[in-house]
Amino acid sequence: MSSEQLTARWETFLGKLKDRFNEIISHAEAPMDDIISGLQYDTVAIHNVLTGLKNQTVQQLSQKGQEGWSKMQAEMLKSLRFFSQDKEYQKLMDLIQWMTDEFTRFEVKTFAKAARKVLENVKAHIDEKKLHRCTQCGAELPIKIFSFVAVNIKCDSCGSVNTYQPDDRIRAMEYYVINHLAEEHALEEKIKGEKDKEARKEYYRKYYGYLIENVPDKKEFYERDLNERLNNPYFHQL
Ligand SMILES: [Zn+2]
Repeated sequence: MSSEQLTARWETFLGKLKDRFNEIISHAEAPMDDIISGLQYDTVAIHNVLTGLKNQTVQQLSQKGQEGWSKMQAEMLKSLRFFSQDKEYQKLMDLIQWMTDEFTRFEVKTFAKAARKVLENVKAHIDEKKLHRCTQCGAELPIKIFSFVAVNIKCDSCGSVNTYQPDDRIRAMEYYVINHLAEEHALEEKIKGEKDKEARKEYYRKYYGYLIENVPDKKEFYERDLNERLNNPYFHQL
Protein backbone atom coordinates (compact mmCIF):
# COMPACT_ATOMS: atom_id res chain seq x y z
CA MET A 1 0.00 0.00 0.00
CA SER A 2 1.37 3.42 -0.93
CA SER A 3 1.80 6.05 1.74
CA GLU A 4 -0.98 8.10 0.13
CA GLN A 5 -3.35 5.16 0.28
CA LEU A 6 -2.46 4.49 3.87
CA THR A 7 -2.98 8.12 4.83
CA ALA A 8 -6.28 8.21 2.95
CA ARG A 9 -7.46 5.07 4.71
CA TRP A 10 -6.49 6.49 8.09
CA GLU A 11 -8.41 9.70 7.37
CA THR A 12 -11.48 7.76 6.23
CA PHE A 13 -11.35 5.78 9.45
CA LEU A 14 -11.17 8.98 11.53
CA GLY A 15 -13.98 10.50 9.45
CA LYS A 16 -16.18 7.52 10.28
CA LEU A 17 -15.55 8.00 14.00
CA LYS A 18 -16.57 11.63 13.65
CA ASP A 19 -19.74 10.67 11.75
CA ARG A 20 -20.56 8.15 14.45
CA PHE A 21 -20.14 10.83 17.11
CA ASN A 22 -22.52 13.19 15.27
CA GLU A 23 -25.02 10.38 14.74
CA ILE A 24 -25.14 9.40 18.42
CA ILE A 25 -25.54 13.01 19.54
CA SER A 26 -28.27 13.85 17.04
CA HIS A 27 -30.19 10.68 17.95
CA ALA A 28 -29.95 11.63 21.60
CA GLU A 29 -31.65 15.00 21.16
CA ALA A 30 -35.31 13.93 20.93
CA PRO A 31 -35.20 11.48 23.88
CA MET A 32 -33.32 14.14 25.84
CA ASP A 33 -36.07 16.68 25.18
CA ASP A 34 -38.59 14.13 26.50
CA ILE A 35 -36.60 13.72 29.70
CA ILE A 36 -36.35 17.50 30.08
CA SER A 37 -40.08 17.98 29.70
CA GLY A 38 -40.60 15.50 32.56
CA LEU A 39 -38.21 17.26 34.97
CA GLN A 40 -39.47 18.78 38.19
CA TYR A 41 -37.09 20.63 40.50
CA ASP A 42 -33.69 19.18 39.73
CA THR A 43 -31.58 18.06 36.77
CA VAL A 44 -30.22 14.81 38.22
CA ALA A 45 -31.84 12.66 35.50
CA ILE A 46 -30.05 14.71 32.84
CA HIS A 47 -26.73 14.26 34.57
CA ASN A 48 -27.08 10.49 34.49
CA VAL A 49 -28.05 10.34 30.82
CA LEU A 50 -25.17 12.64 29.84
CA THR A 51 -22.66 10.49 31.71
CA GLY A 52 -23.76 7.46 29.69
CA LEU A 53 -23.72 9.43 26.48
CA LYS A 54 -20.21 10.75 27.10
CA ASN A 55 -18.98 7.22 27.64
CA GLN A 56 -20.63 6.11 24.40
CA THR A 57 -19.14 8.97 22.40
CA VAL A 58 -15.96 10.64 23.65
CA GLN A 59 -14.61 7.68 25.61
CA GLN A 60 -15.49 4.74 23.38
CA LEU A 61 -14.73 6.50 20.10
CA SER A 62 -11.38 7.75 21.43
CA GLN A 63 -10.56 4.18 22.39
CA LYS A 64 -11.51 2.96 18.90
CA GLY A 65 -9.29 5.69 17.52
CA GLN A 66 -6.34 4.46 19.60
CA GLU A 67 -6.94 0.88 18.45
CA GLY A 68 -7.03 2.12 14.87
CA TRP A 69 -3.77 3.94 15.49
CA SER A 70 -2.04 0.70 16.55
CA LYS A 71 -3.04 -0.88 13.23
CA MET A 72 -1.99 2.23 11.34
CA GLN A 73 1.42 2.13 13.01
CA ALA A 74 1.89 -1.51 12.09
CA GLU A 75 0.99 -0.70 8.47
CA MET A 76 3.41 2.19 8.40
CA LEU A 77 6.22 -0.04 9.58
CA LYS A 78 5.36 -2.70 7.03
CA SER A 79 5.24 -0.25 4.14
CA LEU A 80 8.87 0.74 4.71
CA ARG A 81 8.18 4.22 3.44
CA PHE A 82 8.89 7.43 5.14
CA PHE A 83 6.07 8.59 7.38
CA SER A 84 5.72 11.41 9.78
CA GLN A 85 4.12 9.44 12.58
CA ASP A 86 3.59 12.60 14.60
CA LYS A 87 1.61 14.18 11.80
CA GLU A 88 -0.68 11.16 11.44
CA TYR A 89 -1.11 10.75 15.20
CA GLN A 90 -1.96 14.44 15.52
CA LYS A 91 -5.02 13.83 13.34
CA LEU A 92 -6.35 11.45 16.00
CA MET A 93 -5.50 13.92 18.78
CA ASP A 94 -7.37 16.65 16.89
CA LEU A 95 -10.41 14.42 16.53
CA ILE A 96 -10.41 13.57 20.25
CA GLN A 97 -10.12 17.25 21.13
CA TRP A 98 -12.95 18.08 18.74
CA MET A 99 -15.20 15.40 20.29
CA THR A 100 -14.38 16.61 23.79
CA ASP A 101 -15.26 20.22 22.92
CA GLU A 102 -18.41 19.29 21.04
CA PHE A 103 -19.56 17.14 23.91
CA THR A 104 -19.00 19.98 26.35
CA ARG A 105 -21.18 22.21 24.14
CA PHE A 106 -23.90 19.60 24.00
CA GLU A 107 -23.70 18.99 27.75
CA VAL A 108 -23.81 22.65 28.77
CA LYS A 109 -26.64 23.47 26.34
CA THR A 110 -28.65 20.46 27.50
CA PHE A 111 -28.24 21.46 31.15
CA ALA A 112 -29.27 25.02 30.31
CA LYS A 113 -32.41 23.74 28.58
CA ALA A 114 -33.15 21.62 31.64
CA ALA A 115 -32.49 24.60 33.91
CA ARG A 116 -35.07 26.71 32.07
CA LYS A 117 -37.61 23.92 32.51
CA VAL A 118 -36.90 23.68 36.26
CA LEU A 119 -37.17 27.46 36.52
CA GLU A 120 -40.56 27.33 34.81
CA ASN A 121 -41.72 24.69 37.31
CA VAL A 122 -40.49 26.66 40.30
CA LYS A 123 -42.20 29.81 39.06
CA ALA A 124 -45.45 27.93 38.57
CA HIS A 125 -45.19 26.62 42.10
CA ILE A 126 -44.36 29.70 44.12
CA ASP A 127 -46.97 32.00 45.44
CA GLU A 128 -45.14 35.28 45.05
CA LYS A 129 -47.57 37.15 47.25
CA LYS A 130 -47.24 34.76 50.12
CA LEU A 131 -43.46 34.89 50.03
CA HIS A 132 -43.15 38.62 49.98
CA ARG A 133 -45.65 39.85 52.54
CA CYS A 134 -44.96 40.81 56.12
CA THR A 135 -46.30 38.12 58.45
CA GLN A 136 -47.57 40.79 60.86
CA CYS A 137 -49.25 43.41 58.70
CA GLY A 138 -49.23 41.94 55.20
CA ALA A 139 -47.28 44.83 53.68
CA GLU A 140 -44.98 44.01 50.81
CA LEU A 141 -41.38 43.24 51.77
CA PRO A 142 -38.41 44.36 49.69
CA ILE A 143 -37.05 40.95 48.82
CA LYS A 144 -36.02 39.43 45.56
CA ILE A 145 -37.90 36.35 44.62
CA PHE A 146 -34.82 34.24 44.13
CA SER A 147 -33.11 34.85 47.39
CA PHE A 148 -31.25 31.67 48.20
CA VAL A 149 -30.34 32.41 51.76
CA ALA A 150 -32.39 33.14 54.86
CA VAL A 151 -32.57 36.88 55.52
CA ASN A 152 -34.04 39.12 58.20
CA ILE A 153 -36.04 42.00 56.83
CA LYS A 154 -37.57 44.82 58.77
CA CYS A 155 -41.04 45.69 57.56
CA ASP A 156 -41.28 49.37 56.54
CA SER A 157 -44.94 49.55 57.54
CA CYS A 158 -45.05 48.03 61.03
CA GLY A 159 -41.39 47.67 61.95
CA SER A 160 -41.57 43.96 62.76
CA VAL A 161 -38.68 41.78 61.66
CA ASN A 162 -39.53 38.97 59.28
CA THR A 163 -37.23 36.07 58.64
CA TYR A 164 -37.42 35.07 55.04
CA GLN A 165 -36.73 31.36 54.61
CA PRO A 166 -36.46 30.34 51.00
CA ASP A 167 -38.42 27.29 49.99
CA ASP A 168 -36.20 24.19 49.47
CA ARG A 169 -37.05 24.28 45.80
CA ILE A 170 -35.74 27.80 45.60
CA ARG A 171 -32.58 26.85 47.45
CA ALA A 172 -32.07 23.99 44.98
CA MET A 173 -32.36 26.45 42.11
CA GLU A 174 -28.99 27.92 42.88
CA TYR A 175 -27.40 24.73 41.68
CA TYR A 176 -29.97 23.34 39.26
CA VAL A 177 -30.84 26.57 37.50
CA ILE A 178 -28.49 29.49 38.04
CA ASN A 179 -25.31 27.39 37.97
CA HIS A 180 -26.28 25.80 34.63
CA LEU A 181 -27.23 29.14 33.11
CA ALA A 182 -23.93 30.63 34.26
CA GLU A 183 -22.10 27.73 32.57
CA GLU A 184 -24.03 28.42 29.39
CA HIS A 185 -23.17 32.11 29.63
CA ALA A 186 -19.45 31.27 29.84
CA LEU A 187 -19.45 28.21 27.55
CA GLU A 188 -16.94 29.23 24.89
CA GLU A 189 -14.52 30.59 27.51
CA LYS A 190 -14.87 27.27 29.36
CA ILE A 191 -13.85 25.35 26.23
CA LYS A 192 -10.93 27.66 25.40
CA GLY A 193 -9.94 27.62 29.05
CA GLU A 194 -9.15 23.90 28.87
CA LYS A 195 -6.12 24.79 26.75
CA ASP A 196 -5.31 28.35 27.69
CA LYS A 197 -4.73 29.91 31.11
CA GLU A 198 -5.88 33.41 30.18
CA ALA A 199 -9.09 32.02 28.71
CA ARG A 200 -9.60 30.02 31.89
CA LYS A 201 -9.42 33.20 33.96
CA GLU A 202 -11.91 34.79 31.57
CA TYR A 203 -14.19 31.78 32.07
CA TYR A 204 -14.10 32.24 35.86
CA ARG A 205 -14.85 35.96 35.54
CA LYS A 206 -17.77 35.33 33.24
CA TYR A 207 -19.15 32.40 35.23
CA TYR A 208 -18.95 34.15 38.61
CA GLY A 209 -20.02 37.44 37.05
CA TYR A 210 -23.28 35.78 36.07
CA LEU A 211 -23.77 34.33 39.56
CA ILE A 212 -23.01 37.66 41.23
CA GLU A 213 -25.49 39.44 38.99
CA ASN A 214 -28.25 36.90 39.47
CA VAL A 215 -27.75 35.99 43.12
CA PRO A 216 -26.87 39.35 44.68
CA ASP A 217 -27.50 37.97 48.19
CA LYS A 218 -24.38 35.86 47.82
CA LYS A 219 -22.26 38.46 46.06
CA GLU A 220 -19.49 38.42 48.65
CA PHE A 221 -19.36 34.66 48.80
CA TYR A 222 -18.96 34.38 45.02
CA GLU A 223 -16.42 37.17 44.87
CA ARG A 224 -14.30 35.37 47.43
CA ASP A 225 -14.59 32.15 45.43
CA LEU A 226 -13.65 33.94 42.21
CA ASN A 227 -10.60 35.56 43.78
CA GLU A 228 -9.44 32.27 45.20
CA ARG A 229 -9.62 30.75 41.76
CA LEU A 230 -7.85 33.63 40.05
CA ASN A 231 -5.09 33.56 42.66
CA ASN A 232 -4.54 29.85 42.26
CA PRO A 233 -0.78 29.14 41.95
CA TYR A 234 -1.61 27.32 38.70
CA PHE A 235 -1.89 30.69 36.98
CA HIS A 236 1.54 31.83 38.14
CA GLN A 237 3.40 28.86 36.79
CA LEU A 238 5.12 29.36 33.49
ZN1 LIG B 1 -45.34 44.68 58.64
